[in-house]
Amino acid sequence: MEKHLNVSEIFYSLQGESSYAGYPCVFVRLSECNLRCSYCDTQYAFGDGRSMAISSILDEVKRFSCPLVEITGGEPLFQDDVITLCEELLGTNLSVLLETNGSLYLEDLPREVIKIVDVKTPGSGMGNSFLKWNLKYLNPHDELKFVITNYIDYLFAKNFIEANQPQVAHIHFSPVTSVLEPSLLAAWMLEDKLKARLSLQLHRLLAIP
Ligand code: SF4
Repeated sequence: MEKHLNVSEIFYSLQGESSYAGYPCVFVRLSECNLRCSYCDTQYAFGDGRSMAISSILDEVKRFSCPLVEITGGEPLFQDDVITLCEELLGTNLSVLLETNGSLYLEDLPREVIKIVDVKTPGSGMGNSFLKWNLKYLNPHDELKFVITNYIDYLFAKNFIEANQPQVAHIHFSPVTSVLEPSLLAAWMLEDKLKARLSLQLHRLLAIP
């Protein structure tokens, strides 16, 4: 029997929060999440969504003729069969991004998938949810993201980088829109000469999905 996934939505937009920001991208948003962050803007994905065969998801993604696809959520790793979806998408020569909160095991993901791992800071209400074990499964093309609400979050992210020295392509510090002034975060980063980049939430600035 063909594998199915619970899907919240599939849509086409600009990638918003990584080194791929600004590129056209097809998003496959899977349902459910194991966390409940204070600033979550995708709570509508917490329900069951619609059950779709993986072949139907592929057909819908292909309709957009876009070389970049991102699997997001919710938390995409909450559904085990997301691994099969990754393999199938990679098999069609698409570049596959997967955004995850890093609290579930990453080890089964195909190496070619570019992981964007959102390490939860204390301001999310879900601090300490990141699985340290997952550091072993970060590849040089992967990216880390810290969503920052205040100076405590900033120090958490800075200490995390210094303590773990993650070998990833990019580390993003992203201020929560309307909560932390980007210029303030920029000043802290400049002061500390961090090897991280300030990332603004492009999709929120443009008010697009
Ligand atoms: S991990 Fe993402 S989807 Fe889940 S509650 Fe936090 S912000 Fe929302």
